[in-house]
Amino acid sequence: MRKQTKLAIILPKGFPFRYIFGKINTYSLSTIPLTIPVLVSLIPKDLNIKVEIYDESIEKIIKEGINADLVAISAITPTVNRAYAYADYFRSKNIPVIMGGVHATLNPQEALQHADSVMCGVAIESCPQLLRDFTESKIQKIYTQSNQLDFSKMPIPDRNCYKDKTSFPVRINSIQATFGCNNKCEFCVQPYICNGYHQRPIEDVINEIKNIKSNFIEFYDPNLTADKKYLEKFCKAMIPLKKNWAAPATIDLADNNKLLKLVAKSGCRSVLIGFESVNQDTLKDIHKDFNNVEKYQKSIKEFHKAGIAVAGSFVFGFDSDTKDIFKQTLNFINKAHIDLPRFTINTPFPGTPFYERMKKENRIIENNWSMYDCNHVIIEPNNMTARELQEGFDWISKEAYKLTSILKRIEFINLFSLLIFIANIGLKIKCKNVCQASRDIICANKDI
Ligand code: SF4
Repeated sequence: MRKQTKLAIILPKGFPFRYIFGKINTYSLSTIPLTIPVLVSLIPKDLNIKVEIYDESIEKIIKEGINADLVAISAITPTVNRAYAYADYFRSKNIPVIMGGVHATLNPQEALQHADSVMCGVAIESCPQLLRDFTESKIQKIYTQSNQLDFSKMPIPDRNCYKDKTSFPVRINSIQATFGCNNKCEFCVQPYICNGYHQRPIEDVINEIKNIKSNFIEFYDPNLTADKKYLEKFCKAMIPLKKNWAAPATIDLADNNKLLKLVAKSGCRSVLIGFESVNQDTLKDIHKDFNNVEKYQKSIKEFHKAGIAVAGSFVFGFDSDTKDIFKQTLNFINKAHIDLPRFTINTPFPGTPFYERMKKENRIIENNWSMYDCNHVIIEPNNMTARELQEGFDWISKEAYKLTSILKRIEFINLFSLLIFIANIGLKIKCKNVCQASRDIICANKDI
């Protein structure tokens, strides 16, 4: 019998979208990332590993109380300082640490200053291999994602692993069918984190959905609609399941009326579209000119006609943005009836070509990774000051979520619109809380 290994998996707090209704509270559960359920499912059964999970967005972590032989920490850029603080603590107690997640994937050498080993990219193969190597005392410094990664090997995430975390039953209804992206929009990390674009076999996705108790499924794919043939097959397989679902999509879906109808018939109630900007020149600059501003309104109407609500994401602080962009965008979202707008500030994530360009141009004005949460100004803008950018962002975040604005915008096209309305209220509260949350987290990082 193998000796038992005690593994602790930690997800540090710090991502503002998990605080939509305030600070640490049970509502954060509505946005549970799949990170921990996936990692737990990847632990080889024959290794005699006992796992404890710690999701700091929903619980306080008492690090002194963690009894582990190995600690695994996953982080994105705004949570990575906190991850490093935890890692340094555990290593000071001679407990080896492995790190993974988007930030470590893009910056493995930096992560290695705080960890014994780094897992880059999708962990389907590297996680079991790393754990095997650990139990045989031959752990390597970096585990990369193989170019030929077989996504049919992805096990069903262990959605039960959160069951002891709350006093009421948690239903994790998120899922991911495709990974990465073949486009290269300048501000986005997706093209760089998992070696291109990958699809899971549709049968695997459908089987997984059959086992999710919730009637509503939320896809975490970067773009579920990228491959229209895959999408068509997937929608046909979804129809008998009679589930409602929401997913990120690209706006070109509206051009294919037959496919759009099929998507709606399969249960799609809402899509999240990256409009990014209402300025065509900007879209060209950021390599997203497959979006056509002139067609935006017509496309949104097509989605609404099909009974699908539109959540739209807009980014501010692109090089061609001037101070007028905030008013122009607000006018657009009201006129076009974007059901749920989401705003972010253009952020160059370390480890991407965009970050390198900004560094070369000497435009990085914020080096604290905790501020890289897409709500704070990180680079010197081209056509306005950093203060004007932050104030413009704060202004539109307030204006767009005024009750009168929300009610004017939302198309009450189905029962799901009620949820969209609640999400608008959640974002209204989030915008109030996010700056305070970031400041609290930065202060708290020093206490680890
Ligand atoms: S923004 Fe969307 S389309 Fe562009 S690279 Fe990222 S995932 Fe792909």
